[in-house]
Amino acid sequence: MKIVIIGGGIAGMTTAFYLSKIGHKVTVYEKERDLGGLAKSFALKDNFLEEYYHHIFLTDTYTVKLIEETGLSSALVWEESRMGLYCDNNVYAFGTPLDLFRFKPLSLIDKLRFALSTMYLAKVKDYSKLEAISAEEFLIKSAGNNVYKKIWEPLLATKFGEKHYKKITAGWLYARVSSRGRSKKGLFEREKLGYLDGSLNVLFDKLKDMITKRGGNVFTTSEVERIDIDKDKKITVKADKGYISEAFDKCCLCIPNEPALKIAGHLFSGSYNRSLESIEYRAVLCLMLLIEESLSPYYWLNISQRDVPFTGLMEHTNLVSKGKYSGNDIIYLSRYISVDDSQYNMPNEDLVDFYSKHIKDIFPHFDKSIIKESFVFRDTYAQPIVTKGHKDRMPSLRSTADNIFINNPTQIYPDDRGMSPGIRQSIEVANIVNEESN
Ligand SMILES: Cc1cc2nc3c(=O)[nH]c(=O)nc-3n(C[C@H](O)[C@H](O)[C@H](O)COP(=O)(O)OP(=O)(O)OC[C@H]3O[C@@H](n4cnc5c(N)ncnc54)[C@H](O)[C@@H]3O)c2cc1C
Repeated sequence: MKIVIIGGGIAGMTTAFYLSKIGHKVTVYEKERDLGGLAKSFALKDNFLEEYYHHIFLTDTYTVKLIEETGLSSALVWEESRMGLYCDNNVYAFGTPLDLFRFKPLSLIDKLRFALSTMYLAKVKDYSKLEAISAEEFLIKSAGNNVYKKIWEPLLATKFGEKHYKKITAGWLYARVSSRGRSKKGLFEREKLGYLDGSLNVLFDKLKDMITKRGGNVFTTSEVERIDIDKDKKITVKADKGYISEAFDKCCLCIPNEPALKIAGHLFSGSYNRSLESIEYRAVLCLMLLIEESLSPYYWLNISQRDVPFTGLMEHTNLVSKGKYSGNDIIYLSRYISVDDSQYNMPNEDLVDFYSKHIKDIFPHFDKSIIKESFVFRDTYAQPIVTKGHKDRMPSLRSTADNIFINNPTQIYPDDRGMSPGIRQSIEVANIVNEESN
């Protein structure tokens, strides 16, 4: 079968990869110059680096399997990572039970309640019971108001936004906590995180290479404007400002809901369109700084304080040697945000000034003069907002139009957006599409 795939992120490229492995002829259209979508990398200091921090958890079995299948296992490096939490104007280690024991902002009872509630979540067998309640309700009931206010509420509010965070489903919280819990080898051990030497660019290059060797095509800088179905149920694609493609048997839209509606909404039923429209997204804003000296020993510093404008400070070079980037330390300052927020639309230089003041509040030894280079990355569709009832609202993989499928992170619930569940879903889509061809 001839199958067209719209979107060259991990969903599109792995759907294409698995379909071509079965023997189908695939064609991928990606609007950007480079493949990768949210997991895209750019050339930096004789190397490549992801625009947004990306690591691999031990539980990311589908990512690890894909790396094996593409022959890249020798480039996958596992390193111990340190995690910290900024809370009550202090930086605390927050990665092991001992760290929790030493964590001053919570009383001993609250620490116990925090530990027991996360252990409970990690052991839940049937998350459907958590579906009907919000993460807030669950956390206040199980961990208490203090723990909720100190740790969870600022994290939920900044991830999902003031308008939505109280409605986030406890089902999502379960998947997030249980997958993190399983990503440690032992309770007292530090978490190990994986990173592909040379960045995820290596993986996207390899996927492209393997797809084209199997007779497929991967077109970049090719934005799809519309798709149509003819009387024989064949699909044509209008891309590149007017070019109409050959006819395809099947189409997989591996793009967020809004662009999917834009190019194919006229083919779907009203109820399917409403399901696509019903899920809102948070955008992402990420400032990357190349700096002259390290800020802390932590790879991952969660910010649990709403007066700080970013929610995570990831020191990439605490996971990957700075020797890989000509000796520069690299930090990401990242947050989810609304596209209407003035911060999202702030000129890049103002953003560097604004964030620098807050870095200095966290790390008083920081001085703006140590910044050698800065980069700002923004994306509109970064985090699906998974409020109560998401499971019933999420669009099915098979759309209501003949031969058209949708595969994106709004459908991987209860898992959080991430490459591994995205790859798992791509395999599922490839299998459904293949079954229809038999
Ligand atoms: C800040 C941040 C950090 C993250 N960290 C991690 C991590 O550490 N580990 C992890 O596993 N996951 C991480 N993720 C999640 C991961 O990046 C995403 O889940 C994954 O990349 C989503 O892939 P996708 O292909 O579904 O969507 P996308 O990456 O959004 O890809 C969609 C693609 O479609 C293209 N497109 C859109 N419209 C059109 C059109 N009309 N025509 C042609 N092409 C089109 C886009 O340009 C894009 O390339 C992170 C995400 C963010 C935002």
